[in-house]
Amino acid sequence: MFAARYVPGEKKLSLTDIPKPRPGPRDVLLKIRAAGICHSDLHVLAGEVPYPHTFTMGHEACGEVVEKGNEVSADIKVGGLYAVHGPNPCGDCTYCRTGHDNLCNGPGRTFVGLGQDGAYADYLVVPARNVVEVPKGVSPEVAAVATDAVLTPYHAIKTLGEVQTNSKVLVIGLGGLGINGVQVAVALGAKVTATDLRESSLELAKKFGANETVNSKEIDKKIKPASFDVVIDFVGRDSTFTQAQTFVRPGGTIVLVGLGSSHVPVISTPLISYQVRVQGAFWGTHQEMHEIFQLIDEGKIKPQVETAPMKDVNHWLEELEAGRVKSRMALLPSQM
Ligand SMILES: [Zn+2]
Ligand SMILES: [Zn+2]
Repeated sequence: MFAARYVPGEKKLSLTDIPKPRPGPRDVLLKIRAAGICHSDLHVLAGEVPYPHTFTMGHEACGEVVEKGNEVSADIKVGGLYAVHGPNPCGDCTYCRTGHDNLCNGPGRTFVGLGQDGAYADYLVVPARNVVEVPKGVSPEVAAVATDAVLTPYHAIKTLGEVQTNSKVLVIGLGGLGINGVQVAVALGAKVTATDLRESSLELAKKFGANETVNSKEIDKKIKPASFDVVIDFVGRDSTFTQAQTFVRPGGTIVLVGLGSSHVPVISTPLISYQVRVQGAFWGTHQEMHEIFQLIDEGKIKPQVETAPMKDVNHWLEELEAGRVKSRMALLPSQM
């Protein structure tokens, strides 16, 4: 079968032909229908996350179950469309048992498509417990990108930011995750201000229900300091994390999602005297996967997605790096 594989030290994925994998007793074999591409892939190819071995990349997966192991429950249907919970938790460790399965530290655990085989291929084997059925009205490409580009902002905003009706929320950075973040916060009933450098992204945020949009260049003129309950930083650079600290209210929360820089500055005096909480956010949980698919099915979140043939994965990774992917890109395998 076709597979686009990471090879240590190489800057492009290697497009190869490898044997079709077989499911173990508790696994399902998915025929991939769509696979989302993500900035994390670029971090890996740039050597920032060193993996010593070759694997098939792609951690945002949606596919049809074509075969299942003999211990897999009857709830999982051959022929059904399923999305993969990329953190690939063990289901057994303390984190998994207490509903924090995105933080799983079970023995030998790795993420789908990040250290172990992922979705840039015709087929993928994953543990059956880590798939979630896709509602009938949701397309494979939307489901694939939602597993990260909706799940991550949902976890950051609802669960960690504790955003609720009438919360005042500032969303910084309106890329693939941030624009869905606006929709998540609006769906929760929050009053949302969105900021970015790109006017087109500000327009989109307005279309998705942001109450106010502000170009980052004018943010200091247009927004009062200390005025938001929750600030979500989807960028994670010096400038944006400084803005987050400027605009969060005393006792408020900053949720840091973006990995734009490996270090960000903490201005300790306001942080301490205003008792600001800084919260890191990583991906999302299995339970939240069900919740986001319900919101998408109800039309409360409409993830923006473009599609392209999977064989062009290297081209689209370059386009993503160059900032030329407008929303979120899902790759479709050639043999449908
Ligand atoms: Zn991702
Ligand atoms: Zn676990």
